[in-house]
Amino acid sequence: MKKRVLITGAAGFLGSHLCDKFIAEGFEVIGMDNLITGDLKNIEHLFKLPDFDFYHHDVTKFVHVPGKLDYILHFASPASPIDYLKIPIQTLKVGSLGTHNLLGLARVKEARFMIASTSEVYGDPKEHPQTEEYYGHVNTIGPRGVYDEAKRFQESITMAYHRFHGIDTRIARIFNTYGPRMRLNDGRVIPAFIGQALRGEDLTVFGDGMQTRSFCYVDDEVDGLFKLLMSDYTLPVNIGNPDEITIKDFAEEIIKLTGTDQKIIYKPLPKDDPMQRRPDISKAKELLGWEPQTSREEGMQKTYEYFKSLSQEELNRSEHKDFSKHIN
Ligand code: UDP
Repeated sequence: MKKRVLITGAAGFLGSHLCDKFIAEGFEVIGMDNLITGDLKNIEHLFKLPDFDFYHHDVTKFVHVPGKLDYILHFASPASPIDYLKIPIQTLKVGSLGTHNLLGLARVKEARFMIASTSEVYGDPKEHPQTEEYYGHVNTIGPRGVYDEAKRFQESITMAYHRFHGIDTRIARIFNTYGPRMRLNDGRVIPAFIGQALRGEDLTVFGDGMQTRSFCYVDDEVDGLFKLLMSDYTLPVNIGNPDEITIKDFAEEIIKLTGTDQKIIYKPLPKDDPMQRRPDISKAKELLGWEPQTSREEGMQKTYEYFKSLSQEELNRSEHKDFSKHIN
C-alpha cells in the first residue's frame, strides 16, 4: 500500500517541488493550497497522475481529508517581504491557526508532521553562522514580524503537540532557496535581479549591498527536507547552503550570467533586513548525511533558463516595482 502525504502550499515554489519529489518517490500526494500566492501552473503537470489529488482549501479553516495520511507537510505561507506587507494577517494566520488545524489533523490521522520553519526565526542575527541553538534577534512589530513570529509560534506549537500529545514532528529551518517556479514578482532578490536583467532595467541593490545571503538550489533543499522527514530527529535542523555572498557581488554575478550591460543602482535598505545570513549545517550533515551538491553557478544557470522561458507578457506583467519603498 502506498504511503499517503498531504502537502500544504502545494502550488507554491517549494511545495510544488516537494509534490514532484514525493510522486517520484512513489507516494500518493494530496496537494492543498488556497492559491493566494501559489499558482496552479506549478503543478498542472501532476493533475493527470492517478497518485495526485488537489484540494483548493485555506488551511486556516478546519481541514478535512478523507482516508489515511502517513505524513503532513505544512509548507503553506507567504514567504517574501512584499507578501508580508500585502497580506500580513493571512501570514500570521497560516503559521498559527493553520498549523494548529494541521496538528489536529496529524493527531487524528496519526501522521508524521513536518513544518517549513525558516532562517527568519533568527531575525537579524547577532551570531554568525547561525546554529540551531541560537535563539534569534527578531523585531516583533517590524514589517517582517508577522512572518518571523508566526514561524516562531509554529515551532512552539509543534513542539507542544510533540511533547504533550506525542505527535511525531519534524522542524526544518529553511534558508534562502531558489530555482525554477519562483514568482517573478514576489520581490525576492533572485527573481527581482533576473527580471530586471531580462527587461533591460538596472539592478536595484538595497543598502550598500554588503549584506550577505547563502542561496540553496531547490533540488538540494528538497532532498534535505525529504531526508529530515525520514529521519527520527525531532528538534529543529537548518537546511540550507552555507555558500555565502554579499548582495552586491551577487548582482555582479547576475550581470555576468545574463550577459547584459545593466548597471547596479542603490536603493534604501528595507527595515530589519538581516545583515548577514549563513546556516551552520553541521547537524544536517551529521544526522542526515546531507549537504548541498549544486554550485551557485549551476543552480543559477538553470534558474535563468527557467525565467528566460517565460513569455514576454509574463515578464512585463511583473515589471519592476521599487519594493524598497514599500518595506521601509
Ligand atoms: N534585495 C536587493 N534588491 C532587490 C531585492 C532584494 O538588494 O531588488 C536584497 C534584500 O534587501 C536582502 C537580500 O537582497 O538583503 C535578499 O532579499 P530576499 O527578499 O530575496 O530574501 P530575505 O531578505 O528574506 O533573505
